[in-house]
Amino acid sequence: MKQNGTLSDSQQMDKIKNINTQEGFTIDEVGDDHLFTSFETPMRAGAFDLDDDSKVKLIEKSFADIMHVLGLDLEDDSLKGTPHRVAKMYVKEIFKGLNPANAPKVALFENKYQYNHMLVERDITLYSNCEHHFVPIFGKAHVAYISNGKVIGLSKINRIVEFFSKRPQVQERLTVQIANYLKEVLGTEDVAVVIDARHLCVSSRGVEDTTSSTVTGTYLGQFANDATREEFLKHIYH
Ligand SMILES: [Zn+2]
Repeated sequence: MKQNGTLSDSQQMDKIKNINTQEGFTIDEVGDDHLFTSFETPMRAGAFDLDDDSKVKLIEKSFADIMHVLGLDLEDDSLKGTPHRVAKMYVKEIFKGLNPANAPKVALFENKYQYNHMLVERDITLYSNCEHHFVPIFGKAHVAYISNGKVIGLSKINRIVEFFSKRPQVQERLTVQIANYLKEVLGTEDVAVVIDARHLCVSSRGVEDTTSSTVTGTYLGQFANDATREEFLKHIYH
């Protein structure tokens, strides 16, 4: 509610309070407890109105501002290219999975051998970034499915893991997004995904726990049955 185009003092305070709390949690609590709101990556309208090169230019400027505020000398030979490098890395590498245009092209094949048991691809290397702190999450993803008539090239499973990893993420959402995507492209209900990963926001700052890892799992269709799930887990925890 604007008054003559400006907010009153109490409205300003309410606005600040809304920014600093989320359903009773402070922004620090939301970050350190890794609370999240949806299995969809929260995107704003018009997220892809700008092309990648325009995004790189804008982020480069913003990142130079951050470095400047921190007190770094952007004239220094070692630092002056950093804003551009970071911007390019954000848009074209570590966050390229935000753009649906970068989704892997998945070709399916007929299940000619009539292999009707589970296929497990384990120890897929995973690099992502925490959406609360923008520092790395890294670990392994283990993926399984039971064919419903179609099979997928094995390297495509890696590509799908990679695509959803290259976003600011929370591990629970990443696990579910990979499972749902596979379910959709393969036309099967029978998909399982386990991720075992370390979060640098937990180990290098905050509670500074350097030994813990976080395990998440989604077991759909037949994988919800004890015997099938156990067979899968036996394969991955060899
Ligand atoms: Zn974090």
